[in-house]
Amino acid sequence: MNDDELDYYARHIVLPQIGGVGQRKLKAAKVALVGLGGIGAGALPALVGAGVGHLTLIDDDTVDLSNLQRQPLYRVEDVGKAKTGLAKGWAQSRNPHIEIETEAKRLTEENAEDLLSGHDLIIDGTDNFATRLLVGDTAVALGIPLIAAQSAQLHAQVGIFTAKPCYRCVVGDAFDAEDCDNCAELGALGALVGMAGQFAALLAVRHIVGLGMGDAGKLHWYDHMRGQWRSNAMPADHNCQTCAS
Ligand SMILES: [Zn+2]
Repeated sequence: MNDDELDYYARHIVLPQIGGVGQRKLKAAKVALVGLGGIGAGALPALVGAGVGHLTLIDDDTVDLSNLQRQPLYRVEDVGKAKTGLAKGWAQSRNPHIEIETEAKRLTEENAEDLLSGHDLIIDGTDNFATRLLVGDTAVALGIPLIAAQSAQLHAQVGIFTAKPCYRCVVGDAFDAEDCDNCAELGALGALVGMAGQFAALLAVRHIVGLGMGDAGKLHWYDHMRGQWRSNAMPADHNCQTCAS
């Protein structure tokens, strides 16, 4: 790290749990962020500020006026523009010491392995179960840890999954491409979605630095009506079509 990086990350480096060693791990990490909606817009600033050295931003969407309520990366004048380009420009202006690649593509069964391979960690902030299951299954196939974050209505869920249990173990496979559970239909509370994205970034930093070795398979759930978090270790589904052998 050069002198500017030492200054940039000074508050991390003085933390004994991160230090220079942890900061170098962050700099070396390759993280794919799938989805630049509310979750991605919550996660990206924290990942960029933390100095995650290689980010791949994957999203085929453009900014809609109804996104701005929960996606603070974008401005009114950005409506109609591609989210990947805007997010990359924002991130580079916040941290010149990291590399950012963009893939303005929708993740499909045909391209998922190509887009996600080569990363150390995947963060999924997509807004429908069909894509989340695709990301989860691909993460298992590639052997890459996955942080899955979602929020709708007044709930948020964030979890990290390595091999077992996998994401499909937790949500089941009753969802198909015809199902639609996105926030356009259910509604979303902007601050809650942003918190879920930030929490995903926090788990990512824990994982990369090596603080979160006991996190795998644990699902964190926030119920805004109760104003309470709960965290449960999820069991593996022995009949899971993705990870059961
Ligand atoms: Zn599974």
